[in-house]
Amino acid sequence: MQWLDIGVNLTHRSFDADREQVIERASAAGVSSMIVTGADLESSRAAAELARTHAGILFATAGVHPHHAATLEAPTIEALRELLAQSQVVAVGECGLDYYRNFAPRPAQRHAFESQLRLAAETGRPVFLHQREAHADFVALLRDFRSSLSGAVAHCFTGTAEELETYLELGLSIGITGWFCDERRGAHLHALVRRIPPERLMLETDAPYLMPRNLKPRPSNHRNEPMFLPHIGAAVAQARGETAEFCAAHTSAHARAFFHLDAVAQAWTS
Ligand SMILES: [Zn+2]
Repeated sequence: MQWLDIGVNLTHRSFDADREQVIERASAAGVSSMIVTGADLESSRAAAELARTHAGILFATAGVHPHHAATLEAPTIEALRELLAQSQVVAVGECGLDYYRNFAPRPAQRHAFESQLRLAAETGRPVFLHQREAHADFVALLRDFRSSLSGAVAHCFTGTAEELETYLELGLSIGITGWFCDERRGAHLHALVRRIPPERLMLETDAPYLMPRNLKPRPSNHRNEPMFLPHIGAAVAQARGETAEFCAAHTSAHARAFFHLDAVAQAWTS
């Protein structure tokens, strides 16, 4: 069984001491490909470099998270565009709106999001989206660009049935994390996940964040790792009434197609 983690923050400093072992443990657990999330220009550069040195296993996104929206200026977009010219950098993001934390002023967030949607439209790369407590503004901006985007995935979906319907109508793919395994906050997702067509569903750990709460034994360092993706996948499969094998197969196949990973592999070998 092979799984694909579409969102892992492998450049995070909590992995500095044992990053290679984390990648090896994930591969040994059947997580054969991972997409390393870029959250600002610096971490996007680091993600691109990490993916370059782990060809075929790691891929990267390049973008500015809404928390860092105030750091985005015109030269940032040009630098992201240069990163996106590298074949292993497969998506724009993570980008979007976060009105829950409001680490950046909302107008700056909207500007950064719009600039990155435009970049995705221009480069033909899909977008890796983050949204928290900002559904209405998020959907309004996305609607303006939807027809010119090659693909869009709502990463770490934790929303309501209504939000899910809107996303599916807009043609979004849906990323499910270990939030799903949280018996308090994630319970509502168990019914919702059945509504996601197999060709729209992807899985992610968001490591080192969002450790599945029902892991046994729980890692003493409380750090999530991509090797726990099969644990999330098994829970999602059970809720959908599928075998884990089938869930691994369709979520991986969808992610490979969505991020054009086979084209990247070809670019590397030619
Ligand atoms: Zn996020």
